[in-house]
Amino acid sequence: MNIYSDPTFDMACRQFDGVADRLQIPVSERERLKAPKRALVVAVPTRMDDGTTRVFSGYRVQHHLTLGPTKGGIRYHPDVSLGEVAALAMWMSWKCALAGLPYGGAKGGVTVDPRELSTGELERLTRRFTQELLGFIGPQTDIPAPDVGTNEQTMAWMMDTVSVHAGHSVPGVVTGKPIVIGGSLGRREATGRGVAYLAGRAMDTLGIASSGATAVVQGYGNVGAIAAHSLSRQGFRILAVSDVNGGLYHSRGLDMPRVDAWAQSHGTLAGYPEAEPIRNAELLALPCDVLVPAAMERQITGENAGRIRCRILAEGANGPTTPDADGILAERGDVFVIPDILCNAGGVVVSYFEWVQGLQSFFWTEAEVMDRLFRILEGAFVQTLQLSRRESISMRTAALSLGIRRVWEAKRARGLFP
Ligand code: NAD
Repeated sequence: MNIYSDPTFDMACRQFDGVADRLQIPVSERERLKAPKRALVVAVPTRMDDGTTRVFSGYRVQHHLTLGPTKGGIRYHPDVSLGEVAALAMWMSWKCALAGLPYGGAKGGVTVDPRELSTGELERLTRRFTQELLGFIGPQTDIPAPDVGTNEQTMAWMMDTVSVHAGHSVPGVVTGKPIVIGGSLGRREATGRGVAYLAGRAMDTLGIASSGATAVVQGYGNVGAIAAHSLSRQGFRILAVSDVNGGLYHSRGLDMPRVDAWAQSHGTLAGYPEAEPIRNAELLALPCDVLVPAAMERQITGENAGRIRCRILAEGANGPTTPDADGILAERGDVFVIPDILCNAGGVVVSYFEWVQGLQSFFWTEAEVMDRLFRILEGAFVQTLQLSRRESISMRTAALSLGIRRVWEAKRARGLFP
């Protein structure tokens, strides 16, 4: 049995196999491209506030080491499993290669609901998990960043734990750190702003004006909330947003600063008085110009893809659309998909900038960060669009083809070792 066996890993493999057929990658080279290079599974014993000890499962998967160190987020969520982490690591590989970054993909996580833990418990869990990863992560080997359920504070604890063991500060071991300890200006906003930028580019491509256009966003965390605000500033009316507790809908558009103030003070969107509640399933089927899934994997499936009524699907989350749903959307032909590995690449691009700035101890202005970010996203968008049109393939197949081809060529150039 494949140790990574899991619905999300199977989905990543199906995508890879389809592209490998298209690129005519010899069967003998496919396994080497697809299988994660290495994985670490650890027990994370953690002292709880009531004096008891709980043992959590932690994972880190490094997908390939061919282009440089590996890079990818750390997720704290009850559904985290080795297979899910491996799938997310594989997607990180294709994403970094598509953006031209000198990284392989990685991902990590702990199977835990962080909302059930106190700040002290989260700190002890994070420090112990990091201790288990010592030797496996490092500025030249593997560089974690925030993902679902983790944030700048998590990265600060990780960096501090590594630094205490090294005897000196090691800022390059993580990205997405607080700015005061070497984080980059614009990193927190990078993924959501990138999603909004590419949604705007897709609108231009389809000849739809942004002013007065409508958007719907699923997930109101780092990616979803910033994407919603950026789209609102671009002139979109935000019809609906949601988090794990449910959603908010307003037919004329939500007042985003007020929604944000509510979310900040209540820790959830639930209960906001100036909108109607809406369930996540209904939210995905709202008519709109841009739909941004920015929560978890496998939200748009063979079951609901026929009911999606957006013009542009801007994938803020990783893996929100299953291959079955892709098939339905392709047949329909009326939804322009900005695939995850392109759409949410802003996060890893500015993580790369943070790593570069840290290694040089030379920091850029926010304007420099954003300008360089949008130039990289623009290049990746244009290349993907051109390939998609030239070869009459979907935007996802085009983006994956560009990413996978680069890793394949690098592996051919280097040989068997990495
Ligand atoms: P986050 O933890 O900050 O936010 C996740 C949000 O999704 C929360 O609002 C949560 O309540 C909501 N959510 C969870 N399950 C949901 C459900 N079933 N329905 C509706 N909402 C639900 O996480 P994030 O960093 O914003 O990441 C979101 C997605 O974007 C993930 O797929 C992640 O891998 C991807 N991503 C994140 C980054 C980054 O820089 N943080 C970069 C690239 C991709």
